[in-house]
Amino acid sequence: MILILNPNVGPDSATYQQLMAHLSRLQDIKLRVHREVGTEQTLTEIYLIGNTSAIPLEDMKRLPGVERVVRVSEEYRVLGRHKDDHRPSHFDYQGLRFGQDTLHVFAGLCAVDTREHVEQMVRTLRDHGQVCTRMGAYKPRTSPYSFQGHGKECLAFVFDLAGKYGIKVIAMEVTHESHIDEICEALHATGHPTGVMLQIGTRNTQNFELLKIVGRQKEFPVLLKRGFGITLSESLNAAEYLASEGNRKVIFGLRGVKTNMGEPHRNFLDFAHVPVVKRLTRMPVCIDPSHAIGLRTRGSEGILDIMHATAQGIIAGANMVLVDFHPAPDQALVDGPQALSLDELPLLLEDVQIVREAYEKRLARLEPQLARGSAQAS
Ligand code: PEP
Ligand code: MN
Repeated sequence: MILILNPNVGPDSATYQQLMAHLSRLQDIKLRVHREVGTEQTLTEIYLIGNTSAIPLEDMKRLPGVERVVRVSEEYRVLGRHKDDHRPSHFDYQGLRFGQDTLHVFAGLCAVDTREHVEQMVRTLRDHGQVCTRMGAYKPRTSPYSFQGHGKECLAFVFDLAGKYGIKVIAMEVTHESHIDEICEALHATGHPTGVMLQIGTRNTQNFELLKIVGRQKEFPVLLKRGFGITLSESLNAAEYLASEGNRKVIFGLRGVKTNMGEPHRNFLDFAHVPVVKRLTRMPVCIDPSHAIGLRTRGSEGILDIMHATAQGIIAGANMVLVDFHPAPDQALVDGPQALSLDELPLLLEDVQIVREAYEKRLARLEPQLARGSAQAS
């Protein structure tokens, strides 16, 4: 059960103290407080953990300072959608809104190699009005002998160049807690020219200790990739680990699942799960068509399989597209076979726009029906 307090009921107020004194007398119920400090107001939620089925909702609603009460089901307590749950399905970062109703493209390098390639990439993004990118510095690789990413050595020039070309958010995978400290240090040393969205890769979706550490920091939002060999529910629970530790700025990433049924693609596309994740949780949903498809192959009409996959995710309501580009795909040190070239960026962006407009038309067509439905229900 969650008690959502009136905005600005601070921990020092008499109302709050009175409320907490009452709640602490509830038998076998543990309390967990989550405070979200926004620019205009501070929102406080109190989680009642334990067997709350015997606690009447109405009694809780009457307590001092309580605005609303939500009875949560067992699954995905923080990030899930529950009955009469009107908590937001978006968050703000670096002046951008990430929500279940927005769409951002994060085109960029799978792995940072040279400074020149980073500059070519971010300059091209700026020229096409883009403010987000992906840049891998820490690469989890199947073979220990493969290039593992430049790590902290490249962070300063990546952040400087991103800032120079107006990039506001870089999605960057971390595989160890020390990487978060290195990112913080490099951002500090360069004067915070850009922002970072920490990415948890598919190989670490159930690295629970890493999830807890990433969840405890609230500076950076997190993109959690679905685990490639586990159920959707297991991956959603992994996202809940982040939120249960305090960080709710979580985006859930679909990137295909591992099975040879997807061949000749690298993974089997799971973008039909976009609406499922949006129905079960309040997280924005990202699609990664590059790691799902893994190839630059084209359909018989000439459209890249990666663009078809992108379209499939967006028509289903995806909120973020993570996609690999490279100024010279044949020189890429990681995942060159799936990288699109820079002259393909405008094509992809145009495709994204066409399909997003189609999605919006699908929504608009539904609106009169939804209005009729709610009028009948009332
Ligand atoms: C990546 O995005 O660079 C990556 C390694 O993705 P995944 O974890 O989905 O394989
Ligand atoms: Mn990759």
